[in-house]
Amino acid sequence: MRPFRYARATDADSAIAMVRDHCDGAFLAGGTTEIDLIRQDVLRPGLLVDINDLPLSHVEDLPDGGLRIGALARMSEVAQAAGVVARFPVISQALLLGASAQLRNMASMGGNLCQRVRCSYFRDATSPCNKRDPGSGCAALDGFNRGHAILGTSDKCIATHPSDVAVALVALDAVVHTRGPGGERAIPVDDFFLHPGDIPEREHPLDHGELITTIEIPGAPVARRSIYLKFRDRESYEFALVSVAAAARIQDGTVADVRLALGGVGTKPWRARRAERSLLGQPAGEASFARAAGQELAMATPRPLNAFKVELARRAIIRALATVTSGDGR
Ligand SMILES: Cc1cc2nc3c(=O)[nH]c(=O)nc-3n(C[C@H](O)[C@H](O)[C@H](O)COP(=O)(O)OP(=O)(O)OC[C@H]3O[C@@H](n4cnc5c(N)ncnc54)[C@H](O)[C@@H]3O)c2cc1C
Ligand code: SF4
Repeated sequence: MRPFRYARATDADSAIAMVRDHCDGAFLAGGTTEIDLIRQDVLRPGLLVDINDLPLSHVEDLPDGGLRIGALARMSEVAQAAGVVARFPVISQALLLGASAQLRNMASMGGNLCQRVRCSYFRDATSPCNKRDPGSGCAALDGFNRGHAILGTSDKCIATHPSDVAVALVALDAVVHTRGPGGERAIPVDDFFLHPGDIPEREHPLDHGELITTIEIPGAPVARRSIYLKFRDRESYEFALVSVAAAARIQDGTVADVRLALGGVGTKPWRARRAERSLLGQPAGEASFARAAGQELAMATPRPLNAFKVELARRAIIRALATVTSGDGR
């Protein structure tokens, strides 16, 4: 049992100040990641600053057709919001395919982006893990790494990023707005997630005490035709082995606009830019989809236990693109 202090913030400035002033302070939103990791002795905060009273639970439609989502909006509220379902089905689907109904009612959008990896060695405080204990080594490199990443890996860490909705947000060029000791910042979501490189313990560019306030998604007509496919070991309550967020607009049988991102395979939510470039202007058909998948996955660095992810991801990309481009508009 490790004692820690608990404080409930009533406004953003006091929340930020409290965490900033305590090197072992941390924000607490739904607690579905933070409390788990405290119980597992992976995180040892001295102060938890509860931010649930801050007015950051809105889901707002923007004039350009985009969305502004408060960091404390719950996954379930966002998934059901009319503007999300109608204009950004990929976000709604990604949320509903994550966790369980009970967890989605507790879990916040800001907390979802900051959730920690599910690597079992990270969560076992007795195993070497560069992310938990920098410099201690990576037990997954030669261990049980069936669920680990094949894209964006380093010789220090190969854990996948676990969020589903982050994959949809990366595909849609969302922007993470923050407020912290250094003022306000707008961080493109693709830059919000860092490659492990040599410093896997640093997952986000957030400063200590920097609070996510909102997530903005710019208007994107292409997203009206979008989909999130998730492949996993069981149908619910499970993280992705491979997932795909896809949106496309077809004009005269060719790909006029496309967004593609992958989950379950990258050390960060993976925007498939090579595949997107390969698809633009090409006929909307299986040959183009397979070529695009091949170009993206050519960068993969699989290990014997997770090599199956290359073929699974290839098939998942083809299926997602075929589904999203079927019907009207072809
Ligand atoms: C059994 C289980 C299954 C799950 N399955 C899935 C899944 O399939 N897909 C998926 O995407 N997720 C899944 N999750 C993860 C879940 O979505 C996250 O735990 C949740 O979204 C975290 O949100 P929270 O509000 O509970 O965050 P908390 O636990 O309160 O916080 C998480 C972290 O974020 C920080 N934080 C929280 N809010 C802010 C903020 N506004 N600004 C800065 N930092 C902040 C906290 O300090 C903490 O470090 C699962 C979780 C569990 C326990
Ligand atoms: S893959 Fe990353 S999180 Fe897992 S043991 Fe290695 S360093 Fe730790």
